[in-house]
Amino acid sequence: MGIFSKDMLAGQVAAVTGASRGIGRAVAEALASCGANVAIVDYCSEEVSGKTAAEIAEATGVTVKAYRCDVSDFQASEAIVKQIVADFGSLDILVNNAGITADGLLAQMTEESFSRVVGINLGGTFNMTRHAARLMMRKRYGRIVNLASIAGLTGNAGQVNYASSKAGVIGLTKSVAKELASRGVTANAIAPGFVETDMTKDIPDDAPLKKQIPLGRMAQPSEIAALAVFLCSPAAAYITGEVIRIDGGLAM
Ligand code: NAP
Repeated sequence: MGIFSKDMLAGQVAAVTGASRGIGRAVAEALASCGANVAIVDYCSEEVSGKTAAEIAEATGVTVKAYRCDVSDFQASEAIVKQIVADFGSLDILVNNAGITADGLLAQMTEESFSRVVGINLGGTFNMTRHAARLMMRKRYGRIVNLASIAGLTGNAGQVNYASSKAGVIGLTKSVAKELASRGVTANAIAPGFVETDMTKDIPDDAPLKKQIPLGRMAQPSEIAALAVFLCSPAAAYITGEVIRIDGGLAM
């Protein structure tokens, strides 16, 4: 990481959803490198997420454990939050990162595609926040960071389902921020543009939107992670209900 101290989050417990790869993995690595113990919550096989957890633990020296959970399942999310607290003794930071796309034009979009994307991206953020917030409110401390997208701010042709889910994440974030501010819990959203992960690997280099990025390139997952860590840090104590674009200037 480099820009944050190794013990900035020492003793804190963080849960990151969708953390076996992509942005979530980078966030988990960055939080661990600042001293937080990390729970990786993912849908893939325990072998895959367990390998990620072991690699991050070895690189950073903190405790990292993998948990399998479909975040769109309300009861499963509750069980996993309880398990994390039982294993780690606390939960200070929640990064709702798990997300999917299923692009298609409105005229062809099925009800199933719409519900699935909204169910995971927005429903998953609600489920995990709903269960984690109870604990944070009792502790009178917490940091919640939600992965939105510039699609949730500007809309995007071919992404009615995805953009709706991310606009919902922004509304959820601001409402949670207002409800929990008096309990010392902050909630903020990050709105990336294009980030180099599996989610964007099939977008051709000459895609018109990519060519319009003022900074002329896509983001690296580590750049999104740096912002997430800042929002989880003591330095960000006075920021809540904010939506921060990190898109190379694309949506300005
Ligand atoms: P990614 O590489 O496709 O990874 C997505 C992660 O979410 C995977 O670990 C996946 O687990 C997990 N996941 C999916 N469905 C899940 C479920 N039901 N329960 C638990 N975990 C689930 O995506 P990414 O590019 O890193 O994106 C991360 C977040 O940033 C997403 O919310 C995305 O919408 C947002 N974002 C990304 C970009 C971009 O350009 N990449 C731009 C704006 C916003 P499996 O490994 O099991 O599939």
